[in-house]
Amino acid sequence: MEESLAKNTLNVLEGDISLLNQNVEKVSQIRVKELPSEFKGYPEGTVISYEPLTLEELEALNSDEMSPERAVAMLLNAIHCTTLESYDLYYWDVMYIGIQRKLLAFGNTRGTLYRRCNKCGNLVSKTFEYTDIEFKQMAAPNLPMKMEVCGQKLEFSELTMKDFLQIDAEQGALGVYARMIKNMEFDDAYEMVKHATGTDIKKLRFVDKQLDYGMKPFYETCTNVIDNKPCGNNVVMEVQSPFEVVFPEDEIDGDNEFEVQYG
Ligand SMILES: [Zn+2]
Repeated sequence: MEESLAKNTLNVLEGDISLLNQNVEKVSQIRVKELPSEFKGYPEGTVISYEPLTLEELEALNSDEMSPERAVAMLLNAIHCTTLESYDLYYWDVMYIGIQRKLLAFGNTRGTLYRRCNKCGNLVSKTFEYTDIEFKQMAAPNLPMKMEVCGQKLEFSELTMKDFLQIDAEQGALGVYARMIKNMEFDDAYEMVKHATGTDIKKLRFVDKQLDYGMKPFYETCTNVIDNKPCGNNVVMEVQSPFEVVFPEDEIDGDNEFEVQYG
């Protein structure tokens, strides 16, 4: 994600929280009972709930003026948490809730992912059912994960939505490692992981593996024909941004499933 988008989203969030919270009382909230993180690392007794997608929000999301920043802000404002701000929830938990809201609003629906084949460069598409979305379980039994790395006692945890919005694409994986460190300023953590060597590299990779969770990728075989032979590469279709799964497209089509009388 581009840095500018991240900064704008945080600005929108800070400006809009009060505005959107005005509607809270009017809509009944749904309590979240399951999360991909299994609530690991959240304060004891944390209650998380969300408002269902309303027609007002749907219309706003489908309007031409809707920016990605604002769409993320609307999602985060529909999530309520007794102990944390919603942008302090883990990124994948927010994604999960976004998917639940979409399922609740539309029933099982379909989405499409597009990725380049890493063998031949062909654009591959995969249409999936929302009910087929599965999440990987985190290996770490609890959070934060405490470990001595680079001579420092470090505490690692999942990336929160706020962390995700602050990721700078240019910093790549190093930026992600640094954001997992919770007991150090980001800039210091980034400098530290940048210069990690030997065993510390292994330790950081181990942490990354222990904390790995999120949506399981879909796979699709590349059917591009090269020299009369199909490419056949099994392309990993991983979700890379909330915009690919969480926000509704205008997809309410004409199938009439309702009892209607005319005239
Ligand atoms: Zn291919």
